[in-house]
Amino acid sequence: MILTVTLNPSMDSIYFAETFILGEMNRCSNPIKAVGGKGINAGRTAAILGSDVTVMSVLAGTNGELIRNALEQEAFKSVFIPIPGESRNAVTIMDREKNQTEIVELGPVITVETAQKVLANVIDFSFTQQKRPIIALCGSANTKNERLYQDYLQQLYEQLGAEVKILTDISGQQLKNVLQGTIKPYFIKPNIHEFAELLSLSIVNKQEVIRQLTHPILQDIPFILVSCGGDGAVAKYQGRIFDVTIPAINSINPTGSGDATVGGIAFALDQGLSIEETLRYGMACGMSNALEQAVGYVSVENVEALKNNIVLQEIK
Ligand code: ATP
Repeated sequence: MILTVTLNPSMDSIYFAETFILGEMNRCSNPIKAVGGKGINAGRTAAILGSDVTVMSVLAGTNGELIRNALEQEAFKSVFIPIPGESRNAVTIMDREKNQTEIVELGPVITVETAQKVLANVIDFSFTQQKRPIIALCGSANTKNERLYQDYLQQLYEQLGAEVKILTDISGQQLKNVLQGTIKPYFIKPNIHEFAELLSLSIVNKQEVIRQLTHPILQDIPFILVSCGGDGAVAKYQGRIFDVTIPAINSINPTGSGDATVGGIAFALDQGLSIEETLRYGMACGMSNALEQAVGYVSVENVEALKNNIVLQEIK
């Protein structure tokens, strides 16, 4: 059983334009529209692989209704938390040179009341399940409370017990605060840029990531995965470090590959697989997502095939 939480889902529009010139009228074809949100993408991935998944989404206004309608068609179960305001739009403009311009709204404010409502829903949901779900807290939130996720971790461990596995896919100050708190998540997945930002260093390759894994801020987190796009990843699990290499693929759209990776990891943890298999699933899901035009989709056939070509080297 997996529960993902998305505090700031979006209605995404991707426009394809011949050219995009600032300050001029730019004409383009009708956009591709899709629902966006890290927890939604991760949940979809785990559900495609066969997990029992519930996706909890905070929704507002007419965009929230559109998102709800789309999520009701999905293979996972949904819990919707309605709040005032308007769920955000995210607009991507892609020109013929493949330059990508993004306009992303902040989204509705997560007030103290909303934050509490979400927490209460997560706890209620967890108590109604036969066994504690794996909980994945994913993505940004429009809040002034930079300790929001830290508070969630504390409350969730207190109420659900220390054995509950909480995965976080967050970045920036929220991640920093979570790691500086006394209660640590079970799993984090910064990409290499987020990892560099977290440590205030300029890190450009996997060797440097490996060197930094002993940084004090990363102590006591059982499972760290630093994803490195087409270069694979570096992982630290219970003190063991792995350099994870993936084969080259003809990537079509890698957006959302990190979310798919989190979905693959959640699936494997839920199945109780070994760390080696868990890493293979995470990588194969990220790659499978990159092979699709759509964001946050994987194919079971591709995942199973790609999984066999992932090389794990344990660093002693
Ligand atoms: P996003 O924020 O778009 O969800 P991310 O930056 O968090 O992504 P990445 O490090 O880009 O995450 O990708 C996660 C995983 O997906 C990688 O470790 C790798 O397995 C796979 N992946 C991503 N990009 C590529 C690519 N171009 N070719 C092959 N695999 C890729």
